[in-house]
Amino acid sequence: MHFTLSLPDWAIEANKKLPAYLPTVDERMAEVIRFSRLNFENGTGGPFAAGVFERDTGKPVVIGVNRVVPSNCSSAHAEVMTISVAQQILGTHDLGGPNQPIYQLVVNWRPCAMCYGATIWSGVRSLAIAGSGPELEQITGFDEGPIHPEWDKELAKRGIELINNVLTEEALAVYRDFATSGALVYNPRSGGEK
Ligand SMILES: [Zn+2]
Repeated sequence: MHFTLSLPDWAIEANKKLPAYLPTVDERMAEVIRFSRLNFENGTGGPFAAGVFERDTGKPVVIGVNRVVPSNCSSAHAEVMTISVAQQILGTHDLGGPNQPIYQLVVNWRPCAMCYGATIWSGVRSLAIAGSGPELEQITGFDEGPIHPEWDKELAKRGIELINNVLTEEALAVYRDFATSGALVYNPRSGGEK
């Protein structure tokens, strides 16, 4: 009894071709948004991607993507995939442990209820997101779940820096293209219907 999750082949190859360093948060987000688009265009998951980077140098650890439908796994959101693969690469369950660089999670929108928790549990000390408003749910129809009303303050309390509204319009453009593509929006209890 076990399960395995993996990134799609195109994403593994695209990770190998990433620059050694992406010095600015905008550059990191641009790559994450590029992966989010490729993921739904390639039919390998939803329009979501996330990256773990060394915050101060911009060295990428990995950029991962949503794998829910292809993996038959409701928890295979981009953040969970990326945090998990990064922890395997780095050989630790704690991305905020002693003697480590500061790790930053970059996501193409505010994490959902599940991924918000996964972010806190991961140990990352910085979270950069493309936006946090209702636009994602309005455009795509995904239900992001109940978010704590003081979600940003709760991050701060735990020593997690928040950088919001990075390349917002670029991220929204992917969601709009996803919404008009006719792709599956896989909310729970939807019976697989759109
Ligand atoms: Zn999520």
